[in-house]
Amino acid sequence: MTRDMHFNSLPVSKYSTMISAKRSSSTIFAAGNAATPRHTDPSKQTATPTSPSARKGKWTPTIQVENTKHSVVLRAGEGIGLSATTSPTDWTIQWQDGVVTVDQLLHMRPWQRINHFPAMHHLCHKDYLARNLTKMRNEFPREYAFWPRTWCMRTDAVAFKAYAGARARARAARGRPPRWYIAKPDSKSRGIGIYLFSDPAEFQTNPEYEMVVQQYIERPLLIEGYKFDMRVYALITQCDPLRLFVYKEGLARFATEPYGTGPALDNQSQICMHLTNYSVNKRSTKFVDGGADGGSKRTLTWALEYLDSLGHDGSGAIWTSIKDIIAKSILTVQPELARVFRTCAPNGDGSLCFELLGFDVILDHKLRPFVLEINHSPSLSCETAVDHKLKQGLLENIFRLLNPTSLNPRKWMRRDRKQAKQRLYASSSTSATAAPPPAAANGPASKPAAAAPILADNDADLDSADEADEPSPPPAPRDAPSPAPAAATDDSAPSDPLDAATAYETAHLGLFERVYPPSDPATAARYTTYLTTAQSLRGCDIEPARTFAPERGETAADAAGRPAAARGAAAGDVVDERE
Ligand code: ADP
Repeated sequence: MTRDMHFNSLPVSKYSTMISAKRSSSTIFAAGNAATPRHTDPSKQTATPTSPSARKGKWTPTIQVENTKHSVVLRAGEGIGLSATTSPTDWTIQWQDGVVTVDQLLHMRPWQRINHFPAMHHLCHKDYLARNLTKMRNEFPREYAFWPRTWCMRTDAVAFKAYAGARARARAARGRPPRWYIAKPDSKSRGIGIYLFSDPAEFQTNPEYEMVVQQYIERPLLIEGYKFDMRVYALITQCDPLRLFVYKEGLARFATEPYGTGPALDNQSQICMHLTNYSVNKRSTKFVDGGADGGSKRTLTWALEYLDSLGHDGSGAIWTSIKDIIAKSILTVQPELARVFRTCAPNGDGSLCFELLGFDVILDHKLRPFVLEINHSPSLSCETAVDHKLKQGLLENIFRLLNPTSLNPRKWMRRDRKQAKQRLYASSSTSATAAPPPAAANGPASKPAAAAPILADNDADLDSADEADEPSPPPAPRDAPSPAPAAATDDSAPSDPLDAATAYETAHLGLFERVYPPSDPATAARYTTYLTTAQSLRGCDIEPARTFAPERGETAADAAGRPAAARGAAAGDVVDERE
């Protein structure tokens, strides 16, 4: 990951050209679309986000892709009925290759969604990840053994040398060779700067970047004699409380040199034997673009089914443990994600942001999965046949899960008005009766019985006026288990918003599986233990878990009023794409 890459430095004009070219193909979607920007010149945009009252046409959710170089994002958005927009302020979903800045968050409206969380470096920088997962491994040695022992050499060099020396002496006493280690720059990706060594004296610091050293998985599971790893995609749609999904399809990426009997002095520098990165192996003349079930890049389901065919229960037990280690990894940093998010948007539940993560997972010869790395900008390039199908489908599934048709600004504003009226009425009636006021701000307000008729009449007018604006919800994916419930897409306040959101998700999971919150009580209890420990290790002042609250009434002005120090909490993170 290069710290000097930032989305602001992306050649926006290049991507604007791309979008303009695409615009003609999206005219059908944009026709009659009130949210389609009137101006392409940002200087002509008002600073005020969508002003729906000024627009009378049919509302269509939009996607802003000015700051991504991946055309597949726009294709996927259009594939589920989103219209492209170049507006810097007036959009429903924004996808950008760089990290989200605090300033961007401060200017977001509650009906907008952006594809990064602040503070994701706690999971996706090698050194932060090492510190976070090592702490949890110390607390839960068996449950967190999926994280290979790792040392951040800036601080742990002495500890590493002591450990490696003791291990080497113990193994020598039993006539066995020393263990192998892998050194990785903490701020690089795509295999850059990685090397293997077995003698601790061989470790070299690098003046340009910090290094982490990790125990090398010397006996990985091989397929056809080659080392491979799996790119598994996870999606966070909300951080507080956490909502986490894992995608059933991904990649199996193969090394292009046979693994033989494993690391040795005469092969330690053969990167195409030891590293499975696509970016490394595609340069080899032995790289084969053989489609989904052959060659150097295959699908995840092919690999799991291949293991099934060998009697290893790849699609069952192995897949379940992969989902489990993904959940455990993310639970480790959930308190920090929630804390930083709350700093930027105190009334939010973290669903202003979503994040696609790419987990690099390797199986050892005993079929145990290990997490090697987590990427917060997994590559979306579509260079092989496998990529094309996988990535567009993945993005379409993400956009559907975000329920874009529920993000109609008019509805949010109408709901705000309704709640304001309810609060007003409640305060006057309760001051008369001295009863406690109903909860209002963060969650669906409970309606005072007497107020209902008047408010219902007013809102019925608004509802019927807006019904014509409502686009049909995106079609449910083919393998959706049941028809979409109306609760999450219409404006009638659901009796339990958590149930409504869960019902919508369940109907629109597509190839995603929900892994958090988990459905079975035993897993839920286990995850609560990890989460509680992560909170105490982090020393965060975590509030009790929040209930789902779709109403986030905070305005940019509210947020901008917070101290600058608070606003700076998430600045400075940078994303590089990885595969
Ligand atoms: P990068 O960000 O540079 O891709 P990774 O941590 O993903 O760094 O490592 C690159 C590749 O090196 C992985 O895809 C995997 O094949 C191999 N690798 C990394 N760590 C280990 C390990 N601990 N044991 C075995 N192989 C590893």
